[in-house]
Amino acid sequence: MPTVSLEVKAVSATTTPAPGMKEAPRVAKLIDVSSCIGCKACEVACQEWNDLPPSVDRPFTGSYQTMPDLQWNFWQLIKFREVLHQDGRLEWTMTKYQCMHCADPGCLRACPAPGAIVQYANGIVDFVQENCIGCGYCITGCPFDVPRLNPQTGKVSKCTLCSDRVAAGLEPACIKACPTNCLSFGTKEKLLQIAHRRVEQLKERGFTKAGVYDPPGVGGTHVIYVLPHADRPEDYGLPKDPKVSWTLKLWKGPLKWLGRLIVFGGILAAFVHYLRFGPHRVREEDTGK
Ligand code: SF4
Ligand code: SF4
Repeated sequence: MPTVSLEVKAVSATTTPAPGMKEAPRVAKLIDVSSCIGCKACEVACQEWNDLPPSVDRPFTGSYQTMPDLQWNFWQLIKFREVLHQDGRLEWTMTKYQCMHCADPGCLRACPAPGAIVQYANGIVDFVQENCIGCGYCITGCPFDVPRLNPQTGKVSKCTLCSDRVAAGLEPACIKACPTNCLSFGTKEKLLQIAHRRVEQLKERGFTKAGVYDPPGVGGTHVIYVLPHADRPEDYGLPKDPKVSWTLKLWKGPLKWLGRLIVFGGILAAFVHYLRFGPHRVREEDTGK
């Protein structure tokens, strides 16, 4: 993979487009759920590369799943699920879960802190800790329930798609560690081709509902999946039809501009009033003298 410069495409709470942004190839991670063996090498590689302190305070609950859910210091999780099919078959699914690096990131739309969340031209969505004010709006704005707040620092964190490694021309740590090649990294266009070829293979093997998970409600994602049962993404712990909420779109779209228009209109009216009537003078009878 060649070195990829991290050109900034969008910044939270900022309307000015990034100056002189160059086009960059969109990168993506492909997760082929049909060849994941649940070994968790990807989880370990993520913890190790990002120097995340492990949580060891949880009692063993009998589940193979390392954690019940993502945490501020645990950015990706292999979800283990038992799925009972209508014909009585029991299926065990293992699915890697992390930030999806949405093309239209709800977290970035919701964030009120300038520069706390950036989206690079290559599609990676990254959190900039020093600019985070810990309000948690990104958590409510995320349709995948991914960002997590560190109660000690008051900062939010999540998977960065190893933006530091990608900028140096390396693949993310999880991809490097996977022993079954169920994870791939490259341009999104190339990975979509690979994904659709894999879907055809699965269909030939009898998985008639196999498909690619790249949800349009968030403009597509930079983490895409091949699912043997794409008609039921919930079986893999993925939301069926994730969307950026309409309230967020309204709040950050038309309402924001309406607010600016009202403020601008007020200033303009005051200016016109000043030009027409001059400065306000206090009359003597008002002063009580
Ligand atoms: S999955 Fe959530 S945290 Fe990740 S880019 Fe999308 S909205 Fe942001
Ligand atoms: S390293 Fe690959 S095979 Fe192992 S759990 Fe992670 S995604 Fe699955």
